[in-house]
Amino acid sequence: MKCGIISVGTELLMGQITDTNAVYASEHLRSLGIDVIYRYTVGDNTERLKKTIKNAFTECDILISIGGLGPTEDDLTKETFCEVMGVPLYRDEKTMMELEDNARQHQKVLTDNNYKQALLPEGAVIFYNGAGTAPGFAVEKDDKIFICMPGPPREFISMWENGVEDYLKKLGNGEIYFRVIRLFGKGESVIETDLIDLIDNQTDPTIATYAKEGECTIRVASKHTDPEEARRKVDDMTEIICQREKDYVYTIDDEPLVMIVGRKLLEKHLSISCCESCTGGMFASLLTSVPGISEVFDRGLVTYTYNAKMNELGVKEETLSKYTAVSRQVADEMVTGLHKKTGSDVCVSVTGLAGPGGGTKRKPVGLVYIGCIVRGRKKIVKLNISDLGRAWIRKYATLAMYNIINRMIDGEKIPPM
Ligand code: AMP
Ligand code: MG
Repeated sequence: MKCGIISVGTELLMGQITDTNAVYASEHLRSLGIDVIYRYTVGDNTERLKKTIKNAFTECDILISIGGLGPTEDDLTKETFCEVMGVPLYRDEKTMMELEDNARQHQKVLTDNNYKQALLPEGAVIFYNGAGTAPGFAVEKDDKIFICMPGPPREFISMWENGVEDYLKKLGNGEIYFRVIRLFGKGESVIETDLIDLIDNQTDPTIATYAKEGECTIRVASKHTDPEEARRKVDDMTEIICQREKDYVYTIDDEPLVMIVGRKLLEKHLSISCCESCTGGMFASLLTSVPGISEVFDRGLVTYTYNAKMNELGVKEETLSKYTAVSRQVADEMVTGLHKKTGSDVCVSVTGLAGPGGGTKRKPVGLVYIGCIVRGRKKIVKLNISDLGRAWIRKYATLAMYNIINRMIDGEKIPPM
């Protein structure tokens, strides 16, 4: 079953709003075993929408439109679909009554364009709108299906959950089962090379790699009428990939690194403190996204100047002047000082050159040192992060801190990152 999604609205083309509904639909269709092969965005323009529908139906079995179902002049999705597909409209009495009730409640007078919303395609399956007034619907004609849904995300999601998903479930041939393996410390192109034999020969399950802000993900998916068969194929392939990339994989369940670390800290009752230079509090800030982390998170210090590093952490002046702030020795003294001060089970320090200025041949932008103590075991890790800008370096350094802690908690070795 091949599906296309058409988002309708000039505001989408102008970049005024982000198409969150299409992303939602893509994600949910995938788990229903319906392949999304195209996504279109069209302005509020009848002719272009007509062209898009005709074009899309040459390959798609189902089209789902989003937006343009409201009462105003520029809401023309329903009328356009019905015209292209040759389906007449009728006045739906239930919708009429709802519109009138709604108007009475809000002491408004219905205008002619409001009545437009009560016009629905003949023979359609109607999805009444629990969160707004415009109903959605599905029409099956000549082996094609078109589904029209409202644009406001609250209405869209409510309609999806309370009607559209059940309708689609009855159409899909088998469910997709998939896993998302996440890795840190290896780029997408290197991973692709590692797995090239598997990727080149893939049919079932399929394997796709994606790069995502310093992390890399591998999606392994299979579609079968027997869900057990799909599960077995995906799990076997996941096992093979994890074997090959075992130093880099941190989850096969698509969970963010910070959540994994947070859960381990809580489960093992390990207290944690951090001191940050180049990341300026990003590590601490991210840690507080974990619900319940106050049970174990003691403190985060942002120690930017030499003075702060000396006063707060006891870093020695000689060390700073001899080796400079971005050095193995300073990262070491920072984390050691933090541990003395807090006694936390897990202590982590970071110091680095985020750029754009300040780099030298010996100490280039992207050079970062991370110190980490986990239950008395200490490691100082040097990173040479690619200079893809200040924001990238700081984000990558933050994730690297989590990666090091994650591996040290499990007693695993730390691969080059
Ligand atoms: P419409 O149904 O076209 O009248 O859209 C109503 C409102 O829903 C718009 O002003 C947007 O704020 C929002 N909206 C429309 N389409 C989308 C979409 N694809 N994703 C997210 N929001 C949308
Ligand atoms: Mg619109």
